[in-house]
Amino acid sequence: MIQTVTKAITPAELGRTLMHEHLVIGFPGWESDTLEHGPTRRDIVARGVDRIEEMKSAGFRSMLDPCPSDLGRDVELMAEVATRANFNLVCATGLYHHELGAPYWKVKLELYPDASDRLAEMMIRELTVGIGETGIRAGVIKLATAQAPMTDYERKVFAAGAKASVATGAPITTHTDAVLGPEQVALLTALGVPAHQIIVGHSCGCADHDYHMTIARTGAYIGFDRFGLEMVIPDDSRVESLLRLVRAGAREQLIVSHDASWCFRGQPAAGEVMDMLGNIGPLHFTRNIAPRLRDGGMTEAEIDSILIDNPRRYFTGEPPHIAGQGIAGQGVTGQGISGQARAPAGHHHPAASST
Ligand SMILES: [Zn+2]
Repeated sequence: MIQTVTKAITPAELGRTLMHEHLVIGFPGWESDTLEHGPTRRDIVARGVDRIEEMKSAGFRSMLDPCPSDLGRDVELMAEVATRANFNLVCATGLYHHELGAPYWKVKLELYPDASDRLAEMMIRELTVGIGETGIRAGVIKLATAQAPMTDYERKVFAAGAKASVATGAPITTHTDAVLGPEQVALLTALGVPAHQIIVGHSCGCADHDYHMTIARTGAYIGFDRFGLEMVIPDDSRVESLLRLVRAGAREQLIVSHDASWCFRGQPAAGEVMDMLGNIGPLHFTRNIAPRLRDGGMTEAEIDSILIDNPRRYFTGEPPHIAGQGIAGQGVTGQGISGQARAPAGHHHPAASST
């Protein structure tokens, strides 16, 4: 079963899923801005329901909002949106990275020798009993690093996250600045977390195929979860990198999304990056990116499988086919998008649904 904010669902109920979108975020301390608290709860719920209705019209049934506890997470708001839109929303337990996360945990983890254990205990409670008094349970663990090197704080939070994952079986999804992905996986797997229960988030923030393949070879999922965020890197580059990974046999390890933030707490988002975060619609991938992937030789079924089968496998813990390992299925994908034998757009490759 997969835990959403309103109920537990079967893997089959998950369906087409966006794996990294935010109803609302607020950087720690937002509530101290007494000039501007941002949109009202009612506005946030209304916008969330609107966008989810848009997603439903394109066949989506589920969404993961991996907001960490210290980034304005509001699970009761999430549950209200999920109930009103009759939609599967999964929330996270976990903390943001050293630079932008909440000082509270930095102080605790520095001063109290048992703070990492206590943090793990809290995560386990949020995953198995509920978050605070809400009774709403998290479905995944969110961990984060920014620029290298990983800080001591981040290592301690990762250790707590690994402990909670091992104790509960909950999968982990991370934030990266498109560096430290392999280090994240190495740290977590050394602590007992299977690689196929980890998504290395925002890996599409660089165009380095070797970096992507280093993550792929570990067996972890590779987050191409910032489509539309062109201030970081153009979508053309993301499309090219993704196709290259598919050709290398990593299709079952790809996770796609936009990392949009539909609302911001505090002062409205400023700057182009933040404007873009707020304005990326939930159908950017299916409307604007999927056609480019089809032009690149992928079949509709292969793209659907990234939106449906990969999230399901991640949540259920069923291992994906791993790039570079000679298991049946890899060759099919390779042929499917090799330049010479490219199928015309809309043509379904006969082998498309073989894996
Ligand atoms: Zn995010």
